[in-house]
Parts: sequence; C-alpha cells; structure tokens
Amino acid sequence: MQYDVIIVGGGPGGIYAAYELSKQRPGSRIALFELGHPLEKRTCPIDGVKVKSCINCPVCAIMSGFGGAGAFSDGKYNITNQFGGTLYEKIGKKTATELLWYVDGINMTHGGEGTKIYRAVNQDIKKKCLQNGLHLLDAEVRHLGTDVNYVVLQQLYDELKDKVDFFFDTPVRKIKVDEEGYTVVTDKDEYSCTYCVVSVGRSGSKWMQTICEELDIPTESNRVDLGVRVELPAQVFSDLTDELYESKIVYRTEKFEDNVRTFCMNPHGIVVNENTNGIVTVNGHSFEDPSKHTDNTNFALLVSKHFSEPFKDSNGYGESIARLSNMLGGGVIVQRFGDLVRGRRSTVSRIAECTVVPTLAATPGDLSLVLPKRILDGIIEMIYALDKIAPGTANDDTLLYGVEVKFYNMEVSVDENLETRYPGLYVIGDGSGVTHSLSHASASGVYVARHIAEKI
Ligand SMILES: Cc1cc2nc3c(=O)[nH]c(=O)nc-3n(C[C@H](O)[C@H](O)[C@H](O)COP(=O)(O)OP(=O)(O)OC[C@H]3O[C@@H](n4cnc5c(N)ncnc54)[C@H](O)[C@@H]3O)c2cc1C
Repeated sequence: MQYDVIIVGGGPGGIYAAYELSKQRPGSRIALFELGHPLEKRTCPIDGVKVKSCINCPVCAIMSGFGGAGAFSDGKYNITNQFGGTLYEKIGKKTATELLWYVDGINMTHGGEGTKIYRAVNQDIKKKCLQNGLHLLDAEVRHLGTDVNYVVLQQLYDELKDKVDFFFDTPVRKIKVDEEGYTVVTDKDEYSCTYCVVSVGRSGSKWMQTICEELDIPTESNRVDLGVRVELPAQVFSDLTDELYESKIVYRTEKFEDNVRTFCMNPHGIVVNENTNGIVTVNGHSFEDPSKHTDNTNFALLVSKHFSEPFKDSNGYGESIARLSNMLGGGVIVQRFGDLVRGRRSTVSRIAECTVVPTLAATPGDLSLVLPKRILDGIIEMIYALDKIAPGTANDDTLLYGVEVKFYNMEVSVDENLETRYPGLYVIGDGSGVTHSLSHASASGVYVARHIAEKI
C-alpha cells in the first residue's frame, strides 16, 4: 500500500496537516494512523458513580483518538508566541503568527463561529499585576470550549473522511527508512510513503524516543513543569477571567528566584484526571455552554525545572513525583490551602466541610509529602501574591490538587522545515518538543503540509 504522505497521530498536528495537504494537493494519497478510537467512540469510563477514578485503560480515551489530547480540552487556542511552544524559533515569529490566525480561521469555518476571542491588553490589570510582582503575558485567546471544540473536530473529520484514509485503533510500531521514502509498520500490515509526518503528542513521547534511538535522530530533554491545580470560587478571579478569560501570569519567587506561572485557567470549569503512560495527574477544562458551568474556577500553578548535566531524564523526575502522589492517594490528592500552610493533611471530613465544593473526587491528603519543598514554597508564595490582585485566593478553603505535571517531550532535532536529518521525515506538534499547545501543534501541521505540497 503506497501513499504520498503518511501521518502518524490524529491530534491537532496530524489533523491540520491532513487538512492543509488535502486542500493544497487535492487527489494526493494521504493516510493517517491513530492508535486511539474515532471521535464518537472516545469515552472515558469514569462516570462518577460506578467508576470514580482512573482504571488505566490500555488506550486512554482522553489522550488518544481522533482529536488527540485536545479533543476534550477546553479548546483554548492561544494566538501568541509568548507561550504554547517555540515554533517561532524554527519558522520565525511572523510566519508563526500568520499560521496561528490561519488555524483560527479554519476553526471559525468549521463550527467555531460565534465563539469569543479574549485579548490580554487591559493596562489596568497589567499595572495591578506589576505592582504586586506579577507579570501578565500578552496573548489573544480563542475559547472554543469543550463542546464547540468537539463540533469543530466532527466537522473536520466529515470534510476529510473521503480525502484521507483513516486507520483508527492502529498503533504504528516502527518507521523504516527506504530508498525512496518510508515504511510504516503496524501490527497487521506495512504501508509505504514518500513523506512521513510524525505527530504523536505527549502520549507518544516514549514511542518517539524509541524511534529516534532506532533512527539515530538526536534529541534533547531537560525540562519538566511541576505543580498543583488550584480551585476556588469563580467570583474570586472574575475580574481577570471576565476580561481576559485566561490570564497567563508569571511570578518570580523571592526565596529561590524560580518562576511560577499560571497555566490553563478554566473559569466555571471542572478539574479532571489525566492519565499519561499509566500515571494519573490532574488537569482542567470548562464548557462554552453556560448550562454546564460550575461555581468554580480552576488553574494550574507550575514551576519549571530545568536540569543540567549529568541528569538528563527530566520526565522521569516528574513521573516519580506523580507516582508518589498516586502511591499515597491512589490517584490525585486534594488539600485545602489552610491545611497545607498549617502543616496538616486534609481529611474527608475537612473537605466535606469546605466552602469550595470540589469538582473532582480526589483523595484528601498532604501535598507536602509529595512535592519537593522548593516547588511547594514557590507555589505558596505565588498564592499569596495572587491574593493581592484577586483577594480570596489565599483563603483556607482554596483547594489544591496534585500533582499537575507538564511533561515536555524531548526536543527532536529538526530543521527550519521541521524535517529530521532524513529528507521527507517530519516531526511536528507536541511530539517534537517544539510545541506545547493546540494552536501551535495545529500551526506546525499546516506549516509542514505546505512544505510537502510544494514537493508533491
Ligand atoms: C485535559 C487537557 C486539556 C488541555 N487543554 C488545552 C487547551 O485548552 N489549550 C491548549 O492549547 N492545549 C491544551 N491541552 C494540550 C493540547 O491538547 C496539546 O498541546 C495538543 O493536543 C497537542 O497536539 P498534537 O497533535 O501534537 O498531539 P496529541 O493531541 O497528543 O495527538 C497525538 C496523537 O497521536 C496518537 N499516537 C501516539 N502514538 C502513536 C502511534 N505510535 N501510532 C499511532 N498514533 C499514535 C495519540 O493517540 C494521539 O491521539 C490540553 C491537554 C489535555 C490533556
């Protein structure tokens, strides 16, 4: 079976690559392999009644399948080069920005029309942040919401299904380099192609590492972000979220001069489990539909850990800490801020009496037994700093869920075309280590598709 282009991975990177290729080169033979299910078959067994926490399904329906890790996400498309990845370092800021807007345009013509775009240009908020040692980053954010994000994915699939051969529930095991292209090996068959685009995201990080080792493609890994997810009454953050929706705020701690940052803010949202390679961590999202809103807002507070020689396994470090929380709590641990600063664990009764009603059923416990002191001190310092711009943040009943980990894929050595040392073999999206977001992963897909289209 011979294709012009084979795409491995059906997340935003793979989908937008397929979309752009089929648009630029209609009639070209494109296949997309995805180890997870089609969109409509993606269901997480956690129903809050029979199944209350993660049961480690062999293929996680939240992380894998058509739409990738982004399918049930909050659908926040950040249009900025300030965060979400370093694609701009490869392709230039101007091109990156143009592509981010181009992706936004596709979303708007595929079910996203009418959704709101937020602009972080409010000078008063910026000033208030700066006066309290907090730095508000500039960004424009399209919030699709989990519901509209799903509709966009459905419409993209409907448009692509006759132009692209989709192979679901089909993990790619190996990529072989041939004289005139590549052979993609699955459990059943082998498929050849001239160009191969690998877009396996965070869940495919270990597989990506193996492929890079087999093909002798250089990689680098030295960063992991660790922290907690904060949940508090939505009113506490409403001055920020009503205006900006998502505020990306960075704080430099006094004690260790580490940067702590807010990440993935979900006004009126819910906190959820995330399963990466069998390790249960925490995340969050929210719906555009007001009938699905909760009374709470959640966001992560993360500290970046960069390691230097001789230590190389930053993800292993993050995994060990997440495993510790899984060992103590059987999954995610929840603790009241008041309990944390008093040096005592939260208990079932303390959580039950809490004025903030948790949106995730997590195990009450003690995060100081899990997170390294340096990281925890930084988080506590930032909570007090945030309390000055959003009074109530440092309330005793503010909930902290842990741990939240942002695993960064090792950075795969690719050039300015996102091409590896093998001509025609591209690595894009979060799996390349170059992007860490929906918008940047999607933009990288479009970018590579255009590069390939010029050659076909
Ligand atoms: C709960 C949650 C909420 C999030 N919210 C946001 C948000 O609001 N905004 C934002 O910007 N980002 C968000 N993110 C991150 C965002 O989803 C990712 O940055 C984005 O999906 C990356 O896209 P990708 O295509 O590179 O990888 P992925 O979306 O991870 O897709 C990779 C796909 O490749 C498949 N795959 C892996 N290995 C193989 C293999 N060997 N063979 C075949 N297929 C394979 C996987 O099953 C997966 O479907 C969120 C993530 C989660 C988990």
